[in-house]
Amino acid sequence: MRLSFYLLAMLMWAAQAQANDPPTKPIKQSAVKEEMSATASAKEETKPAKESKASKESKAAEAARQKEVQAADELAAKIADRLAAIRKDKEAAAPHPVARPYAPPLRLADVAKPKKQEAHGHEIHWSYEGEGGPMAWGKLNAANTKCDTGTRQSPIDIRDGIRVELDPIQFDYKPVSFSVLDNGHTIQVSPSSGNFLNVSGKLFELVQFHFHRPSEERINGKLFEMVVHLVHKDREGKLAVVAILLDFGEAHPVIQQVWNNLPLEKNEVVKAINNLDLMQLIPKRGDYFTYMGSLTTPPCSEGVLWMVMKEVVHISPEQSAIFARLYPMNARPIQNSAGRVIKESR
Ligand SMILES: [Zn+2]
Repeated sequence: MRLSFYLLAMLMWAAQAQANDPPTKPIKQSAVKEEMSATASAKEETKPAKESKASKESKAAEAARQKEVQAADELAAKIADRLAAIRKDKEAAAPHPVARPYAPPLRLADVAKPKKQEAHGHEIHWSYEGEGGPMAWGKLNAANTKCDTGTRQSPIDIRDGIRVELDPIQFDYKPVSFSVLDNGHTIQVSPSSGNFLNVSGKLFELVQFHFHRPSEERINGKLFEMVVHLVHKDREGKLAVVAILLDFGEAHPVIQQVWNNLPLEKNEVVKAINNLDLMQLIPKRGDYFTYMGSLTTPPCSEGVLWMVMKEVVHISPEQSAIFARLYPMNARPIQNSAGRVIKESR
């Protein structure tokens, strides 16, 4: 049994090494066998005089050893087949290999998973700091130029709004099932369909909501602990985002329900068991600020109707701290409001 364990370990090592090797290299089956017989004779050496008697016992041992050798051969053949299959899959998955100065060794686990299509050249992913930070967003990808050249970008410091009788936002939300995703930039919640808002005769459906810490928008220069952005879309694909500012106070049950379903891994969707009642998150007072802006993440697309609720909703410091464990800072800096009209409920 010890022998077969050793062989198995060795074969696994050989398999790993083989997977790392370029496909032209032959399978090291012979080397494996050599190692195997060396081990077998080493074992014999440790058992002197008694064995020379060639008793029935030693014959049985010999037979068992033969069996082990045969089993090892079969295993080696199986591994060779598996490696050939893996190589075939790998070649099929990447029909046009890109020449790279250094190819990191592949692990078996990586070979099994289809790799994400990589852009040509090195790609810097957008982030909130470092070389992929907000100042670089416009240059990271041709699709992101609005992040640099746009004149109606978000977020802004909301001040000097024109006080008018704004049409109330009619939230038609109901308890629905939802899933939670950590997309690498924020925690994003996707409720199932059936949540609508109606404003100025236009109907939008809630697509997702997500969080920023601290709040991206400011009110007369003031930052808030966090903000939730409820992203809605109309039938033509136009976006309307409702921002609800979050500040310290009592713990919020809706936020808690989302946190309870935080995924353990990024890019992994957790489907929650209980329904989420988003009406509980909407401030009682309906006053809001409104202006035309953009997505606050690449590609920074413009033409987004923003509605920022005036009444702040409370979360506990613990709830903010939980988000901070994942994203301590995921807010785009304030953009130039460039004379845009801001209206607010009076
Ligand atoms: Zn957002």
